[in-house]
Parts: sequence; C-alpha cells; structure tokens
Amino acid sequence: MIRISKLAESIKPSATLAAGAKARQLKAAGITVYDFSLGEPDFNTPEHICAAAAEAARRGQTHYTPTSGTPEVKNAICRWYQRFHNLAIEPENVIVSNGAKHSIHNALAATVGPGDEVLIPSPYWVSYSDLVLMTGAKPVLLETRPETGFKLTPEQLRSALTPRTRLLMINSPCNPTGTVYTRQELEQLVDTLLNHSDAAILSDEIYEQLTYGNAQPTCIATLRPELRQRTITISGASKSYAMTGWRMGWAIAPGHVVKAMDAIQSQETSCPSSISQAALVAALDGPQECVAHMRAEFAARRELTCRLLRQIPHVRLHEPEGAFYAFFDVTAYFHKHYGGLWVSDSLSFCTALLQQAHVNLVPGVAFGAEGYVRMSFATSREVITAGLARLAEWLQTAQ
Ligand code: PLP
Repeated sequence: MIRISKLAESIKPSATLAAGAKARQLKAAGITVYDFSLGEPDFNTPEHICAAAAEAARRGQTHYTPTSGTPEVKNAICRWYQRFHNLAIEPENVIVSNGAKHSIHNALAATVGPGDEVLIPSPYWVSYSDLVLMTGAKPVLLETRPETGFKLTPEQLRSALTPRTRLLMINSPCNPTGTVYTRQELEQLVDTLLNHSDAAILSDEIYEQLTYGNAQPTCIATLRPELRQRTITISGASKSYAMTGWRMGWAIAPGHVVKAMDAIQSQETSCPSSISQAALVAALDGPQECVAHMRAEFAARRELTCRLLRQIPHVRLHEPEGAFYAFFDVTAYFHKHYGGLWVSDSLSFCTALLQQAHVNLVPGVAFGAEGYVRMSFATSREVITAGLARLAEWLQTAQ
C-alpha cells in the first residue's frame, strides 16, 4: 500500500468545498437543495472578459508565459492599484498565480517555516490554518468576539506577539464574518505591529470591491510608508469579476519576496494560464460597470438575507458590511432533537439541516467559531427567500 505523507495527513480538505460536494450528491439524486455553502458569485463572467480570452486564444497566446505573469497583466494590476487605492506599485512587486489561494500558499511558503508563528484572527477563512500548517509553521488563532464586531484589538495583538511571530494575517472584508475594519482601526493594529515586532502582514483583500453601506475597503500597504517593505497584499479576480474558474489571483510584495515566490511557482506550475491572464487584463482595464452591477445585486441580497434572518427567533446575526456571507449564532437551537437527529454543535446542526430540510450551510467550526453557521448570499433572491423559509420551518421542528 502506498503510504500517505505526514504533510497530507495533517491537512483537512476544504470544509466549504466538502459542503458543496454533499449538496451536489443530493442534487444528482433529483432533490432540490437550497445551497448556501459556496463562496462564489452565481453570475457568469462578463462578456467583454470572455471575448478577450477567446481573442487571446485565437491570436496564439497559448504558450507558457513568464512565471510571475505577462508584462501586460502586471501593468494592468499596477494601473488598477493606482486607480482604486491610489497606490503606486512597480511590475517587479507583482506576481500572478492560479487564484488567490495559490498566492497565499506561495507567500507563506516563501516567508515562514518550522519554528515560526503566524497570527490568524478567528473566525478565519477555512484555508488559512491549513495553508500555514503545510509550511511547518504554527498557526496561532486569536479569537475575536461579536461584541467587538469580530475585530482584533491592538491589545490582543500586542499580547500575542512573540519573538517567533513572523506574520499577521488580516482579511478585511472578512470571510466568514463580513467584518470590514475602518482605516483607523487598521492603523492602530499596524502601529502596534510596527512598534513591537519585526513581523510582516499578509493582507488578504480579495473582497475589497464588495463593501456595503458606509463600509470602505482599505489597502493596508497604503497606511504607512514603511509598510511597503512589511506587507504582502493578496487579491484576485474570483469574487469581484465573477471569475472563480479562471483562477486568477495575485500578490503585491517587496521585490525579494516576489523573487522567492517566483522560484516556488516556477517549480510548481511554471506560470498561470496564459488565456486567463489575458482575461484578467480585460477585467482590470475594461469597463467597471459590471462590478457595480454585481455589487448592487449583492447589496440587495444582503438586505433581504439580514431581514429574513432577523425574523427567525433566537438567531443572532452579525450584520456583514462586506463580502457575501451572513454569519450567525445558532447555539439556541443546540441540544435538541430534529426528526430523530440529535443536534449538539454546528456540524451536527448543518448535517441535520441538509439531510432533513435540504438547506446547505457551512458549520462555524470550520472557521474556528463553534456555535455559528455561514450562509453565502451569492445566490438568487428566490433561493434566499425559499431557503430561509425552509430553515425557519425546520427550526420549529426542534424537540
Ligand atoms: N481569500 C478568501 C478570504 C476567500 O474567501 C477566498 C475564496 O473563497 C480566497 C482567498 C481564494 O480565492 P481564489 O483562490 O478563488 O482566488
């Protein structure tokens, strides 16, 4: 028998992808499932982006590209940061990878290893801790509470810093909580880090174009001049341009970090897809009305989702200000029977809910937050309305 490596044994499969797979099984059996598990826009990629990719393929842009991306795509990313964040960056500070998840993996592989600590505020995106574990470094989870809006406080950060701290991971807007830090709050956090350690920041800003109401995205690298040398900024096209399948993510980092990531990527995948890179140029340089249109629809779905969830007794909702997830506390519904199934935690809650009511949510435990569940509202208003009606009905069957 072929033995499985220690690395593979230490890694859990992505909980959100696993939840999506379970729902697909039921759908294949002809059952209507209200699937709120996946973090991907239900929109198709805008037409002008698809056309640019088709044109690139026809023109023969079908060969390997430079490992870190074509000059065209790096220049488009530089222009986009100048326009969107007023941040001047050079192409040598950019590396494009096969999705932001891959960018994060390469950034971690390039900067941390055994003996190093990586601070991760929790609740956190399911992949962070496993991606850190894959490098041999230690993820250190810093629990945030609904009372502070699920935000890390400077005091918490200060007391978590040790001589082994190499990185702080920040994700604003946050998956799963929808929390968006204000500029001032981020300034306080980065000042704490700059004053008390030589650790760097890995800032995952992938939901930066999806904020609602008064919430504003902040690019952490713009906060202090010295942060340019201490920050790895991650973003990508999956969420804002409905391009999950194209696998386009990028990192902005100091030159020596980009070089190290480039070496890793050259051995892993040679380069990102040439055709997807052409599509990304069109996404970043082309008309941005498509993003505004999708954001407006997400905003309407967020309103609807929050309104319907607030009507369900004992559900405690943390209102999201960004991304496309509702994260809510369902502990009032634990320690009860549902049609013969005993629900005692977020996992048994989601399992029973899917099995009996065909509503698919992701258990909070996957994000380091037992007691909560995550619902993606990146789906139609009809599905949201019908699925939440089902959820409310099912909760009433508790005994
Ligand atoms: N970062 C966060 C917070 C995410 O939620 C996701 C996707 O769910 C990613 C990164 C990765 O996105 P992709 O690899 O599709 O670019």
